Amino acid sequence: MEKIKNLIVGSGLSGAVLARKIAEEKKEKVLIIDRRNHIGGNVYDYKDQETNITIHKYGPHVFHTSIKEVWDFLSRFTKWHYFFYKVRAYIDGKEVNIPFNLDSLYKVFPKKIAFNLEEKLLKCYEFDTKTTILELRNSKDEDLKFLAEYIYKKVFLGYTSKQWGVDPEHIDASVSARVPIYISKDDRYFQDTYQAIPKEGYTKMVENILNHPLIELRLNVDFKEAKKELDYENLFYTGAIDEFFDYKFGKLPYRSLDIKFEKYDKEYMQSCAQMNYPNNFDFTRSVEYKYYLDEKSEKTILSYEYPCEFEEGKNERYYPIPNEENQKLYERYLQEVNEFKNIYFLGRLGDYKYYDMDKTVDRILKFAKTKEIK
Ligand SMILES: Cc1cc2nc3c(=O)[nH]c(=O)nc-3n(C[C@H](O)[C@H](O)[C@H](O)COP(=O)(O)OP(=O)(O)OC[C@H]3O[C@@H](n4cnc5c(N)ncnc54)[C@H](O)[C@@H]3O)c2cc1C
Repeated sequence: MEKIKNLIVGSGLSGAVLARKIAEEKKEKVLIIDRRNHIGGNVYDYKDQETNITIHKYGPHVFHTSIKEVWDFLSRFTKWHYFFYKVRAYIDGKEVNIPFNLDSLYKVFPKKIAFNLEEKLLKCYEFDTKTTILELRNSKDEDLKFLAEYIYKKVFLGYTSKQWGVDPEHIDASVSARVPIYISKDDRYFQDTYQAIPKEGYTKMVENILNHPLIELRLNVDFKEAKKELDYENLFYTGAIDEFFDYKFGKLPYRSLDIKFEKYDKEYMQSCAQMNYPNNFDFTRSVEYKYYLDEKSEKTILSYEYPCEFEEGKNERYYPIPNEENQKLYERYLQEVNEFKNIYFLGRLGDYKYYDMDKTVDRILKFAKTKEIK
């Protein structure tokens, strides 16, 4: 048996950041393994050889955060290409800003109606604030109620039913509670302080995080096999918690995506990086990658996302399905973890939780601060 002080399973953002913290701050050796043939987990990107356009293999990733500590930490390992994400949706044949904002009103309604709605919104809410469909629904004003219904039906319902594979009539209206309406002309998708894409890509950034003399990386190694030969003192597992326990209580469900990439003999196909299709086609959104790093090519590459169920061996775990039943199942697994004093479950798969990249890093930075790591 090979003796290992710290074993990390998974070289995604979680595993990489933790490896760096242990190596740098504890000054201890770390072995990090991944069953894929590349580092980076789901933020892995690569250059398309023909066009030199950077592609995100597991779906489009735009970094945004207001957590300065996360920004500062990652900035040690990458230079940034500052990038404000613009997302539009095709609604009634028009390209409409998402989140829905004051300009969106004028895209979909006749000028008179749009003006009336804008006036009413500005009367009820301060400029540069956000409200939600739910709030507008509860308004006493019939016009604002109408606006809430319009956005619910045209922007939210179709997209959500495709995303989660649920018939529109089975989507509880309360789920739309948090869908924002922006009382502003700000057409950025995020309003975080820091918004950018790593200049040389996410893979390079993760490679730099892992580049430390105390960190050893082994790819194409599945924990299932490796554990037979590794005697570890501490195990940090960023893979799926149910898989670790051989699904003894059942499988934690995930939503997956069939991502289809298309190359076109055209300089640009879309007016912005992401286009949503709430009411047309089977895909939810299309993304034109060259926008992210402002890459120049006579050709362009888009991806189209077709949501589907997760099936092991067939596709990837993407989105945990948040409901009470699944949370209970996850907690049953978590109780098993308490049996071990030296095993920690982390990351989106270990925690069975959707984390944006910044929350992923934040989770690990906070974890590393605790005294738990022996
Ligand atoms: C479609 C999509 C789009 C996204 N877009 C954004 C975005 O625009 N902005 C944003 O902030 N966030 C985005 N995210 C979230 C982002 O992908 C996550 O925050 C991040 O990837 C989480 O990293 P992780 O290390 O926890 O998990 P992962 O990246 O999944 O890493 C886990 C690693 O563990 C390995 N592994 C698992 N089991 C084993 C095993 N048994 N043995 C060996 N290795 C194993 C896997 O191969 C994998 O490499 C998006 C997520 C999805 C699904």
